[in-house]
Amino acid sequence: MKIVVVGGGFAGLACAKALGGSEHDVVVIDKSNHNLFQPLLYQVATGALSPADIAEPIRKLLKRYPNVTVLLGEVAGIDPDQHQVRLQDGTTLSYNVLVLATGARYQYFGHEEWAQAAPGLKTIANARDIRGRLLRAFELAELSQDKQEQQRLTTTVVIGGGPTGVEMAGAIAELGRWTLKDEFRRIDPACARVLLVEGGERILGQFPAELAQYATEQLARLGVTVLTGRRVRDVTAQGVTIDEEFVPAGTIVWGAGVAATPVAQWLGLPPGPGGRVAVDRHLAVKGVSDIYALGDIALLEQDGQPLPGLAQVAKQQGEYLGRALRQGWEAAGEFRFHDRGNTAVIGRHAAIFDFGRIKLKGRIAWLLWAIVHVYLLVSFEKRLLVSLQWLWRYVTRARGVRLIP
Ligand SMILES: Cc1cc2nc3c(=O)[nH]c(=O)nc-3n(C[C@H](O)[C@H](O)[C@H](O)COP(=O)(O)OP(=O)(O)OC[C@H]3O[C@@H](n4cnc5c(N)ncnc54)[C@H](O)[C@@H]3O)c2cc1C
Repeated sequence: MKIVVVGGGFAGLACAKALGGSEHDVVVIDKSNHNLFQPLLYQVATGALSPADIAEPIRKLLKRYPNVTVLLGEVAGIDPDQHQVRLQDGTTLSYNVLVLATGARYQYFGHEEWAQAAPGLKTIANARDIRGRLLRAFELAELSQDKQEQQRLTTTVVIGGGPTGVEMAGAIAELGRWTLKDEFRRIDPACARVLLVEGGERILGQFPAELAQYATEQLARLGVTVLTGRRVRDVTAQGVTIDEEFVPAGTIVWGAGVAATPVAQWLGLPPGPGGRVAVDRHLAVKGVSDIYALGDIALLEQDGQPLPGLAQVAKQQGEYLGRALRQGWEAAGEFRFHDRGNTAVIGRHAAIFDFGRIKLKGRIAWLLWAIVHVYLLVSFEKRLLVSLQWLWRYVTRARGVRLIP
């Protein structure tokens, strides 16, 4: 059987690995040549890690499976009747079974023009771009003779109070207060402003209130101003309008909303919430045959709630589907997500971990967060590299990748 897997992220890679060595002919297509560990992307954006620390070529990760072929290509359409996938360059590929795992992308609630001034954090290119903007803003502030302009340039607004927004805000504050401190003569990076803007009543809506409260206090300790229940009305290169107030800013980061890649459109199906496609308990897309959807693009309810867009959901779905396609549905049973806990880090010695009944915060959660993230990295080489750099940064507070591209 020919199985085409579109996307070599958390879900697609797990599925391809589970099918590795089977009798099936597996083709993995991805528009980028690497698998990316997105949970640590904010550390690339703030100069703590370099892109290669958290990315690995998909080809390398699958090289040990002779039945798996990896292709670099961007899927642009699907013909479910003909069982064909169309790539951007016009090439077509036939399949017996199609596995879609193309993930999510940032959405700007109908204001796509904001993306220019407020990039989201999804790819290595985004992380490099944000790192460049942050560091350049401090350089331009040092060059400027105008106090107001210096203040604007050293103000960063992070939009969206989910885990990515919190992690970015905390890391940017640490960058100014610890890493860049004492390196400038005309400005004081320790006085740089960081604002975190959230439309909901509190940050970290998916975490219990007590953990979100702790995160808010820790952000305040780092000097981050957390604004909740506030709406972003406009974003320009000069700053952000929050409700009626204009906040001049040198760097703006978007972390407010994501939507699935356009799989529903490719399949001619009505998109569900967040653009996702509905799947059954075998992860088969409802309304078409021989097509499965995994990870951030799949809409599946469990215990009355849609499963969240998390790496652990994507990975478990990929492993399940690979196993099911290999061993049959009877052996695999139905998919069920097992929650291994939800975490976010705010800064040095400050993280939260929610295991349901057990809730951790502070130093223990921070240590656990670090151990789990190192463990989840895709190879031993990356685990070693990241551990060493974190150890060095822990001792020196330095960030080694402060390059403006
Ligand atoms: C900054 C950030 C931080 C995060 N932190 C956490 C965290 O701490 N914990 C957690 O559990 N989750 C976290 N997440 C969410 C987690 O990364 C996602 O839930 C997970 O990546 C989803 O896996 P996926 O396989 O569905 O998609 P992805 O991992 O995004 O993979 C999708 C793949 O499809 C490819 N692709 C996309 N479109 C096409 C196309 N048209 N043709 C070919 N290939 C295509 C992409 O190149 C990519 O390789 C974070 C996400 C981000 C952006």
